[in-house]
Amino acid sequence: MPPLPPPSAAPLDDLSIHDLERLLDPVTTKHGNQLTFRNWATTFRSDAAAVFRPRSVQQVRYAVELSRRTNRTIRAAGAGHSPSDIVCTGDYILDLKGLDNVLDVDGDSRTFHAEGGILLRNLHPILLERGSLALSSLGSISDQTLAGALSTSTHGSGVTFSSISTYATFLDIVLPQPGAPVVRVSRSEDQDPDLFHAALCGLGAVGIVVGVGMRAEPVFKLEEEIFTMRFDEFTKRWQEIAESAEHVRCWWFPQVARVKISRLNRTNKAVTPGPSALSSYLQNVVLAKHIHAVALSAARYLPALLPYHAWFMWTFREQPGPVRWREFFAGIWARVSGSKTGGPWPRIEELDQDGKGAVAELPFHPVDPATLPEVRPSDVSSPSFDRTDSNESSSSKLTTPDDMLTPPYTPPTQSPVNEAVVVDRPVSPASDLELPTSIVEEVEAKTAVKQERTPMPWPILEDKPTYRVDLGVKIFNYDCGFPQYTYESCIPYESTGAALNELHQWHTHELAKPGYPLRAHFPVEIRYAAKDEAWLSPTGSGPGCYLGAIQYRPFNLPVPYREHFARFSGTLFSLFSGKPHWAKTHTLTPDDFRKLYPRFDDFLAVRERVDPKRVLANEYVKRHLLGEVPTEQMEHQGRRWKERFGVALTAIAILVYYLFFDSSSSPTVSTAVPSAQLANPSSLSRVSPSSPSGGVEPVPAPISPMTTQSSLETAAPTFAHSDVSSLTSESTKSADSTSAAKVDQKTASKASTATSSTASSRSGQEKSGTSGQTYKGEATFYFPTELTNMMQQNGNAGACGDKNSDDALICALQTEIYAGGKNCGKEVQITRTIGEGGSVAVTVADECPR
Ligand SMILES: Cc1cc2nc3c(=O)[nH]c(=O)nc-3n(C[C@H](O)[C@H](O)[C@H](O)COP(=O)(O)OP(=O)(O)OC[C@H]3O[C@@H](n4cnc5c(N)ncnc54)[C@H](O)[C@@H]3O)c2cc1C
Repeated sequence: MPPLPPPSAAPLDDLSIHDLERLLDPVTTKHGNQLTFRNWATTFRSDAAAVFRPRSVQQVRYAVELSRRTNRTIRAAGAGHSPSDIVCTGDYILDLKGLDNVLDVDGDSRTFHAEGGILLRNLHPILLERGSLALSSLGSISDQTLAGALSTSTHGSGVTFSSISTYATFLDIVLPQPGAPVVRVSRSEDQDPDLFHAALCGLGAVGIVVGVGMRAEPVFKLEEEIFTMRFDEFTKRWQEIAESAEHVRCWWFPQVARVKISRLNRTNKAVTPGPSALSSYLQNVVLAKHIHAVALSAARYLPALLPYHAWFMWTFREQPGPVRWREFFAGIWARVSGSKTGGPWPRIEELDQDGKGAVAELPFHPVDPATLPEVRPSDVSSPSFDRTDSNESSSSKLTTPDDMLTPPYTPPTQSPVNEAVVVDRPVSPASDLELPTSIVEEVEAKTAVKQERTPMPWPILEDKPTYRVDLGVKIFNYDCGFPQYTYESCIPYESTGAALNELHQWHTHELAKPGYPLRAHFPVEIRYAAKDEAWLSPTGSGPGCYLGAIQYRPFNLPVPYREHFARFSGTLFSLFSGKPHWAKTHTLTPDDFRKLYPRFDDFLAVRERVDPKRVLANEYVKRHLLGEVPTEQMEHQGRRWKERFGVALTAIAILVYYLFFDSSSSPTVSTAVPSAQLANPSSLSRVSPSSPSGGVEPVPAPISPMTTQSSLETAAPTFAHSDVSSLTSESTKSADSTSAAKVDQKTASKASTATSSTASSRSGQEKSGTSGQTYKGEATFYFPTELTNMMQQNGNAGACGDKNSDDALICALQTEIYAGGKNCGKEVQITRTIGEGGSVAVTVADECPR
């Protein structure tokens, strides 16, 4: 059956601005709280001039035409589930959730046509009811709108499954051109395939998607096997595991060096009964929400709790199968008695301090995007799963290999606990999706066959995997818990093992630091996606592995996350050409994307063609796609009592921490890299694992502060950047600067021993910069290679534009003191005013945004 024609687009020429406003009036909000857009995680908000909630394509056209004529930005908002400011604007928000009709479902051709604003959770039952169809792959939730999910390349997991947008056959788009035309675009030559490929992951910047034509598949059930492995085992076998089932997703718990693996295959086996209501409540509400939130709140002030909390959650919730009491108590005993053997309770003294061993020897070569293989779908090697249900056991469980790496924790007795009867605990919470019961039963009656189980061919930590069967959508989706900061990066598939080892090595050293200053929550999500064709899809150049970090916001309170994410994203970007998930906060610029995406400029050209007046360009688009400095910062107004309470608690906690816990009062040292390093994926130095201090402070990722960050975040207890420096602007670079540098190299050397590399402050009092004046503020300076062997300029130009040799003593000044480049090239004396003191003369070369 041919698809329905696109909605008609009669010209709007006769309508004045006043007419457009009048026609939009019934769906316009101009005053009150409803003007505030907040994303799901409440990490970003913006107050719009007006919010339109159209119920028809015609109303979308009016809104787009009005924006164009009045030179206002308009941003499509789906369900607001993107964890960044991608939707935010101070102009017009177009809330599309009212555009939620399913226009056609064709069970024979396995296609459907729906409006872009429909929530996926509402789409599922309609596809099931009207065509016995289901989407082939889904992410962890179904709370996004269809067009919103497409627009950021939302993905599930599976080496032969691409982003959800891959399944789109055509898109109906309202363009911000005169008269706001509606166009239908597709892969077909006569339907603007360029616009189609740009709009498949269009970030709301190439038009408003009002209709989506899509392929689906006959409704299916999935069988899920969940089991766990030691991290070192997993990194050796990740590929074999990834390719062993249709959908494989994994959760790595770095604090306990364990990986939970979920393998999904289509099946005809009978649906397994869910957990009892009580068990489900205890696991998914009491443990996963309340206890988790309380512990994470406490860890805001006592971060050293986090590894223990991770272990607690691992033991009682995350690992499938029965609680391993023996292992748990063995761990406690080992901890209490100081014994080196016992359970895998966090034992930071056993960490691999010298970095020797297989991890340190892995070849960490930066991946040049230009050299990435052009993998066609047919080139992707066939995963070794069998779509039909097999009753044969392929091999028995392997024994623990001799060449196992020294684990960060004492291994759990090296063999799983053997219980006579394995009582399965509930795994991920049952989805609360509402699907038509009668049809579900019908599917079940037609297809269900007897269950058979296949043993795992890997050294897993259980006797056998936990197992369940249900409708696909109910298995794909799971409860993501409470609001969170998230970051996700897509690296080339083949780099998965090396990237995990790199992250592991970094995290291991962080864990060894007293008090666990990194404060990382858990887990790291590991998912895979096949190559697809959207120009801005992170897997547009080849199959990829998505690695995602999470920092939860217990009771919606802020937690520190920037330093952690900065290093996480920086490592993946710099060493593995990691591409950030478009929906999440990141710091990449058009130049970075140009290197990562071969069609980036094509995308920009299409964008310019359809939106020459930049009606769809908000700050996110200007910052990341167009490279324009945002002209205004979003104001964060009004805080709820909880947030105010959180700020007060934080202040008290910081005081208590410094008075009672942080006896050394030694500043936590942080470093930064010039923004120029962003452009050079190979420029990040590797952490020197042999530092006497248990690992030098790693080079943090080149994350620059978002101009639109939540104000809440600043209330987080941040112990970095705690020492005060005064910066004296001595003179502009002069003839005697060489001798000054010579003298100061000695000082710098001393300072490096004492403080690693940075002098920084938050006092923020500064005087404007002319020669001889004193500033108080924050600076980051870079030591010559021979002094530290870690921080190098690597020939990159800083914000001042000059390339500096690795011998140069240069610094980056905080934005206010940098003063738009006014102090570039000046020689300044940086003096630490607390701690051991020390000073160094350096030349201003870069800006250091905080
Ligand atoms: C708890 C949680 C779990 C998640 N799980 C996953 C996951 O498993 N996999 C994954 O890849 N991502 C995941 N995400 C991210 C999420 O899928 C994306 O952020 C998605 O874009 C959100 O869709 P939305 O409808 O909320 O769109 P929004 O966040 O409202 O908008 C996202 C982008 O789409 C644009 N947009 C929205 N509607 C339209 C339209 N009609 N026309 C044109 N542009 C439009 C917006 O302008 C914006 O640029 C998750 C997010 C959360 C909060």
